[in-house]
Amino acid sequence: MTARAQVGPSPVGGGPAVSLTANELIVLQRAAQGETYAAIAHDLGYAEKSVTKMALRLNRKLGASNITHAVFLACQAGLLDGKPRRHGDHAGFAAHQYRGEEPCEACWEGERAYRRDRKATRKAALSDGA
Ligand SMILES: [Zn+2]
Repeated sequence: MTARAQVGPSPVGGGPAVSLTANELIVLQRAAQGETYAAIAHDLGYAEKSVTKMALRLNRKLGASNITHAVFLACQAGLLDGKPRRHGDHAGFAAHQYRGEEPCEACWEGERAYRRDRKATRKAALSDGA
């Protein structure tokens, strides 16, 4: 067995570099809900073997040793929350902090712009009121 890079919750310098196909994502989501490969295969109209292959492929992409590990890593990487990660603004910055991560460069940039704007707005409001 060769060592593989792990998908951490916050790869340095950016978001998760993992990209799964739509089918792989479906397999991952349904596995996360406790469905068997057989049930997933039945619903998708695939052979169980195809679903097993997809699972192995997504395990490899995520650096997981099995599907449970893959689900865990995908959760951490934000692949299972059903919405794309938002980056580059105050909300993205706050989301990083909420997840206990060091905000990425784009989010730091957005946060600095947000703070600058707020400061300018406050200053403008003060001078208007005076
Ligand atoms: Zn970010």
